[in-house]
Amino acid sequence: MTMTATVMAAATAATGPRPLTGKVALVTGGSRGIGEATALRLAADGAAVALTYRSRKDKAEQVVEEIEQAGGRARAVRADSGDAEAVRASVAGTVAHFGRLDILVNNAGIGVLGPFEGISLDDVDRVLRTNVRAPFLAAQAAAAHLAEGGRIISIGSCMAERVAFPGGTLYATSKAALSGLTRTLAKELGPRGITANLITPGPIDTEMNPADGESARMQAGLTALGSYGRAWDVAATVAHLAGEGGRYITGASIAVDGGFAA
Ligand code: NDP
Repeated sequence: MTMTATVMAAATAATGPRPLTGKVALVTGGSRGIGEATALRLAADGAAVALTYRSRKDKAEQVVEEIEQAGGRARAVRADSGDAEAVRASVAGTVAHFGRLDILVNNAGIGVLGPFEGISLDDVDRVLRTNVRAPFLAAQAAAAHLAEGGRIISIGSCMAERVAFPGGTLYATSKAALSGLTRTLAKELGPRGITANLITPGPIDTEMNPADGESARMQAGLTALGSYGRAWDVAATVAHLAGEGGRYITGASIAVDGGFAA
């Protein structure tokens, strides 16, 4: 049994009847890292899952295969977050394929770090298109389909609100925008019974931020727990917000950071 299958089995066993049965989720950037873990976890909880990817079709298809082998329903769709029409089409395609949409997880994101004065216009456009414009457009497209009980969950960063360090201006700017989007969406969509929340991870071991090397040691050392988090830690919080436990949580920013921002 793979690590992933073990986690899926544990998640299913731990929750008894599957809490997201009958629900449909769209996870952006579901081919790797936090998005992959989230797609697997929501599927383990019973949701049908659409996941998007940019370039790693092989990885996205592996995730779909793993969900299907466990008896779930999934599909992978290429949708570059930089392409507004592809983002909108990924929402419409999910509804067309599965018949509904209940949970949007805005996860796909990129980081460009470096001294403020060296950040190029191209970097600014690329990061804001991927980390801000795409989640904005996906939420807008999803809002048209979400019914009462719908969930919009965005993956921000501890740098969205409480943590700052030199070299992080562009990334922090983009993630702070997600914080504003989440809080105002919560007010705007609340009357329809739709929630919007932000998860702010600390250092999580993925291809974006691998848990080895000097920078990793420094990041782990800044957490209260003295260690990196796993993608599953973030996925578990997404699953909580997506399920009944998230019914009365909206406009919130939930840190999954081992105490990085404490
Ligand atoms: P990874 O780099 O490991 O995975 C990124 C995922 O997003 C991949 O599935 C990738 O697809 C997809 N993606 C990237 N760019 C695009 C794009 N332009 N269009 C569509 N999909 C895209 O990242 P993580 O899992 O670490 O990060 C996930 C989220 O969590 C991000 O928003 C990140 O900012 C945030 N985060 C991560 C932290 C960490 O320490 N890891 C800490 C705080 C926040 P493909 O495989 O096809 O390239």
